[in-house]
Amino acid sequence: RIVFLNGSFLPIEEAKVPFMDRGFMFGDGVYEGVGVLEGRLVDNDAHLERLERSLREVRIPNPYTRAEWTHLEEELVRRNGVTEGFVYFQVTRGVAERDFMFPENAVPTVAMFTQVKAILDAPAARTGIAVVTVPDLRWKRRDIKSLNLLAQVLAKQAAREAGAQEAWMVEDGFVTEGGSSSGFIITREGRVVVRPLSNAILPGITRKALLALSKDAGIELEERLFTVDEAYDAAEAFLTSASMFVVPIVSIDGRAIGNGKPGPITKKLRDIYIRMATAPRMA
Ligand code: PMP
Repeated sequence: RIVFLNGSFLPIEEAKVPFMDRGFMFGDGVYEGVGVLEGRLVDNDAHLERLERSLREVRIPNPYTRAEWTHLEEELVRRNGVTEGFVYFQVTRGVAERDFMFPENAVPTVAMFTQVKAILDAPAARTGIAVVTVPDLRWKRRDIKSLNLLAQVLAKQAAREAGAQEAWMVEDGFVTEGGSSSGFIITREGRVVVRPLSNAILPGITRKALLALSKDAGIELEERLFTVDEAYDAAEAFLTSASMFVVPIVSIDGRAIGNGKPGPITKKLRDIYIRMATAPRMA
């Protein structure tokens, strides 16, 4: 398995990050994850745009241009022979003696790896998944894709221990988002509902693409807050993420959603998204 670290492609066993890296010490960095389908990056430009924004917000210099990032991602996908899966990359503020303030001459650490993973044929997509709700314990800048993921680690572990595959985080009675996904419900009137963008959630790239595609397909959508009770009562629910696309949710906190099976509108949205991701012009 080949990874990329600070300018070199090398076997993962040889990829070593210094002890005092601020990613390790402080979680002082940001990351991205891009889906790979048919060996190609899905919606990569939008992910790089979000990376640029995350870096700007935490004031880490961006080490590469968009073209350079794309080249590195494509090269790593090629070297690992990934046809379906995921590219992960992160940038930390670099290596320096432990001190909270920015170091003066630190060089950002860049790490990238790929994962082979079934997206189109994932069992979760066929059967749907169970979700549990947990309090949203995160900080107030969730719009930044930061390496500080302790709240999500705890949320998703709680989900696993409850026999579920994702946690929906809740604040003031309203669902914010999934531990590593955007959360949607479909009302009994057939409206697709998703929380509007703000500092309270990550601006999901799959979410954004799906909003545009559903509009084109004439499916009504609403960006507004929704409560846990409204989610329990929904006709359908689903999540979106770069590595899962659109995945049906068939229960929340043990309550069946709809008839407890993946719903028709969710399936349609998944198909629409897959069609976009496999279209010849997607790079
Ligand atoms: N919200 C959170 C908290 C996430 O970690 C992710 C996964 N990156 C998402 C939403 C989905 O975003 P995307 O569609 O860009 O993968």
